Amino acid sequence: MDAAFDVVIVGTGLAGLSTALRLAEHRRILLVDKQNLGAGASDWAQGGIAAVLDPADSVEAHVQDTLVAGAGLCDEAATRFIIGHGGEAVQWLIDQGVAFTPDGASPLGLHLTREGGHSTRRIFHAADSTGHAIQETLRRKVRAHPNITLLEQHMAIDLVIQGGRCAGLYLQSVHNGPISAVAARQVVLANGGAGKVYLYTTNPDCATGDGVAMAWRAGCRIANMEFIQFHPTCLYHPYAKSFLISEAVRGEGGILVLPPMAGAEAGRRFMPEHDARAELAPRDIVARSIDYEMKRLGLDYVHLDVRHLPPAFLHEHFPTILARCREFGIDITQEPIPVVPAAHYTCGGVMTDTAGRTDVPGLYAAGEVACTGLHGANRLASNSLLECVVLGTAVARDILAAPVPPLGAVPPWDDSRVRDSEEDVVIAHNWDELRRCMWNYVGVVRTTKRLERAQRRIELLREEINEYYASFHVTRDLLELRNLVDVGSLIVASALSRHESRGLHYSVDWPRTLDRALPTVMSPRGGYVAG
Ligand SMILES: Cc1cc2nc3c(=O)[nH]c(=O)nc-3n(C[C@H](O)[C@H](O)[C@H](O)COP(=O)(O)OP(=O)(O)OC[C@H]3O[C@@H](n4cnc5c(N)ncnc54)[C@H](O)[C@@H]3O)c2cc1C
Repeated sequence: MDAAFDVVIVGTGLAGLSTALRLAEHRRILLVDKQNLGAGASDWAQGGIAAVLDPADSVEAHVQDTLVAGAGLCDEAATRFIIGHGGEAVQWLIDQGVAFTPDGASPLGLHLTREGGHSTRRIFHAADSTGHAIQETLRRKVRAHPNITLLEQHMAIDLVIQGGRCAGLYLQSVHNGPISAVAARQVVLANGGAGKVYLYTTNPDCATGDGVAMAWRAGCRIANMEFIQFHPTCLYHPYAKSFLISEAVRGEGGILVLPPMAGAEAGRRFMPEHDARAELAPRDIVARSIDYEMKRLGLDYVHLDVRHLPPAFLHEHFPTILARCREFGIDITQEPIPVVPAAHYTCGGVMTDTAGRTDVPGLYAAGEVACTGLHGANRLASNSLLECVVLGTAVARDILAAPVPPLGAVPPWDDSRVRDSEEDVVIAHNWDELRRCMWNYVGVVRTTKRLERAQRRIELLREEINEYYASFHVTRDLLELRNLVDVGSLIVASALSRHESRGLHYSVDWPRTLDRALPTVMSPRGGYVAG
């Protein structure tokens, strides 16, 4: 399909679907996803979406909680903009038909939960599968819309820049078909995060940082990539690839204790020693505390215990977690849950303003792929779904307000110089090596020596992968690996350039937090501004 559309949106998570539905009345849209419609991280979100609609709460309190979690690095104007539009965003979801959990006793008629770092209950949720409930509703709307052309199982490879403007992109079927050139007046990157760069992650397989890598290669600045949020509580089980135990479990009273292999210390609740907020401390503190206890005692995991909560309450509030744990033989009403930290959220990304505009005219970014400045050095729980809806709306409004740009001509993809590969093993090997290297050397606690070691290894991998890319026909595995190696390299370079510990970035060699907080901005034209 060589074609032309008004707007191409890459990614059908909450950011992509919000943008599409806000634009579709006025523009012809191509919505592309390398998986099936809406099967990204948004669909996996359990806890909920944070916003202020309750008159007893205030936007200012939500802003302050976000700024505190962000450890001085949030862009305050962007934070105020996004949180200020939170009520409108949740109301829009309700208007689309999303069935949030009701509560007859609350003035809003909806149940609000509380999560770590929030000073009050302000999380709208649909039991413990909020993302799925939202995505299901929006998926139906998108499928029914006549102005939206949906292309599933197609992967965006690279953007086409002409005369300094984004003119379109190249797409390939994930079943390795021919590569199409698609022209667009505007392109929106809504392709999610990069958790797959780490060996252990809560993210779905699609989270390979494609948007960050594509934008970087197209000339956009990338900010704050060292701030990777490790979710403190991912289920530890050999067959549970990436299942997280929501923050809300601790919000509702779950406690963290040492497991039997801790010997004399088994059963001891350890969070109160690490932080006065105990299990409700922000994620970075909880993840680091667990990492500390695991390293101190040589543990494979710690326990999250909810046995003191009534089983009926657990069934009502955490049905998905209960069912999933049961699949692995764990009855959480009777047994503690084994948990480990795992890469969860990419706070950094493609630098945008609050209209989602990147450095390249005609190219927008929204959702986890972007760095608006909302999350600073650490994302506050449930603020990311909110950002997806608010930024998706803002991108759509900006596109509709701008003069309609002319369509460029995108040249066909040229692969006349490449052949089929005879050594796919290189790809599988390098995927594994990169993810292990990132986990071991660029994890929860960092040192300069380990980061430099990672940098050398990643550089070698990058050379090998680029040589492979230039010689052979591309496949989804190769394209994702090429993107992951670019993202890994940006994370390491950003981490090395930060000579302090702040938020999610903790360095043994630079333990102090500097008085002045500065973002880490990487430019493809060379040079960076480091905090
Ligand atoms: C397990 C889990 C639980 C979470 N819980 C919460 C929560 O309770 N509250 C909250 O606020 N946040 C939560 N988060 C974070 C939140 O879900 C994500 O940050 C958010 O959903 C990201 O949305 P998105 O639209 O940016 O990306 P996604 O929803 O990840 O969608 C990206 C889409 O882009 C597609 N894609 C990627 N690359 C390409 C390419 N090259 N070509 C074509 N398509 C591509 C993917 O296939 C995917 O469908 C959670 C995350 C996880 C993993």
